[in-house]
Amino acid sequence: MEKFEQIFSYINEKTINYEQSENISFLDGILLALEDALEEKETWVGKDATKEDIRKAIQIAILKGMRKTSQPNHQMTPDTLGLLVGYFVEQFFEVHLKQNEISILDPAVGTGNLLFTVMNLLNGKVSAATGIEVDELLIRLAADTAELIEQPVLLYHQDALQKMLVDPVDAVVCDLPVGYYPNEDVALDYELCAHEGMSYAHHLLIEQSINHTKEGGLLFFLIPANLFETEQAKELHKFLKTQVWIQAVIQLPENLFASKAHEKSMLILQKQSKQLRAPREVLLAKVPNMSNKQALSMFFEKVQMWKENK
Ligand code: SAM
Repeated sequence: MEKFEQIFSYINEKTINYEQSENISFLDGILLALEDALEEKETWVGKDATKEDIRKAIQIAILKGMRKTSQPNHQMTPDTLGLLVGYFVEQFFEVHLKQNEISILDPAVGTGNLLFTVMNLLNGKVSAATGIEVDELLIRLAADTAELIEQPVLLYHQDALQKMLVDPVDAVVCDLPVGYYPNEDVALDYELCAHEGMSYAHHLLIEQSINHTKEGGLLFFLIPANLFETEQAKELHKFLKTQVWIQAVIQLPENLFASKAHEKSMLILQKQSKQLRAPREVLLAKVPNMSNKQALSMFFEKVQMWKENK
């Protein structure tokens, strides 16, 4: 059995036991299993495993738990998307990462799978990471995972649209929660507050993320594919023009999503800075079906060519 399978079996067996003995949900059971692993530090099966083995094993267990109790906000960013985001973070910070470290924020961190995928890929090049999450169970899963994979992350259990105690960061990564934001008083603090009716949480979170990014810093969002087609899109576009330069809009393969309504794209923004200039051209590209190796390598070539000419 591969290491990550051994770790998954450990978590799975313990979770099933807790599910039955404590009469709790599978996801709550995972928390107890992870806490056991943390207590058994010296003997636990993941002791000599890589950070990726541990992350993947926990990810599979959480996915199993999410399938068993489907709650609309219990979504995890899958590896394929996490690795793509990580690839673009590496590309945009290439020079920086050779000498330096970057600070990173995920304002809707969920289970942490996206943030940890990116951090593991950057391999020690993240000086400070912060995650914000409104759901208590998810942020506890993120906290235990961070401890087991030994990734230094500050986690806050709060609504990311309320005041955040986070210094401006070099990079934001976020798989945006999509939908209306229920707290209309808080929405009033944002330029992207809807003039009529309720505001979109994902628009407000883009604004909040820009507020917490350094000048010249970069933001990597997974957005609904129709972000720029809704009735509030005009305001969003106007706002973005004053704050950021759009670097890239990347369509993701349809087959990664359950339905057209769930399709996502990647949006890469750079906070404007007097020392820098806008890219000559926005990168508009479509990621091909991941199983088509040749098309995929052409996609990466296109990104490289754009980078050289930008
Ligand atoms: N990247 C995450 C992962 O890998 O697990 C998944 C992110 S999921 C698409 C969006 C997350 O945003 C959910 O976990 C949801 O609970 C959270 N969320 C929604 N509204 C929020 C808010 N106002 N503040 C903080 N988190 C919020």
